[in-house]
Amino acid sequence: METLLQAVGVARTYGSGSGSVQALKRADLSIPAGRLVALRGRSGSGKTTLLNLLAALDTPTEGAVYYKGRAISSLSDSERTLIRRREMGLIFQSYALIPLMSAYENVEFGLRVAGVPRREYAALAREALDYVGMLPRMKHRPFELSGGEQQRVAIARAIAHRPSLVLADEPTAELDSRMGLTVIKVFKDLVRDFGITVLLTTHDPAIIEIVDHVYTLEDGQLEDES
Ligand code: ADP
Ligand code: MG
Repeated sequence: METLLQAVGVARTYGSGSGSVQALKRADLSIPAGRLVALRGRSGSGKTTLLNLLAALDTPTEGAVYYKGRAISSLSDSERTLIRRREMGLIFQSYALIPLMSAYENVEFGLRVAGVPRREYAALAREALDYVGMLPRMKHRPFELSGGEQQRVAIARAIAHRPSLVLADEPTAELDSRMGLTVIKVFKDLVRDFGITVLLTTHDPAIIEIVDHVYTLEDGQLEDES
């Protein structure tokens, strides 16, 4: 089984001296391609810290992160940004859609950021919106959509450029449980239909039941629950 994402002895301390916070203690993790993986833990346990390191948004204080066998944690800022934009899709708790843009324009903007040729925008954006069931609402702006619908548009934006890896930080935290499960079902479908790897953080027990693999964080200490 091909390993898509790997962390070896990864640690992150914020600040220095007496005011420093050890948010993540030396952690090892290995995620094969084509899996739906959850990272669970209480608030403040270090979930966002670890996700940001895996997304190459942040660099570890110790250890290394490998993406497709390449040590992305030691690349320059611009190289990391390029890999993240082209090969990954990021999803956040509060959707992070651009308010003045329609659903379609939000997805199209994501394609532009990912460096996709302009002539491919329309087909890829429509395909992604259709996949999450939001094509009929593509002209609507975020404020005209429910939370679950906004998150589905955010997923469309994250997958339109066909990334290998989707990282989602508490994607269902602001949704009721029914809408949350609809969103998780989209993730499951992505894994099944395209072999995309999805790593999400959550503390919802219903989601933990559905995923392929669970890692747990407690006070910055990562445990593998397999
Ligand atoms: P979670 O996502 O599980 O709620 P975080 O990764 O956000 O946890 O935070 C883990 C710990 O690191 C917390 O104690 C938090 O206060 C601390 N922390 C997070 N970001 C910073 C930062 N930029 N500077 C200092 N401390 C931080
Ligand atoms: Mg967090």
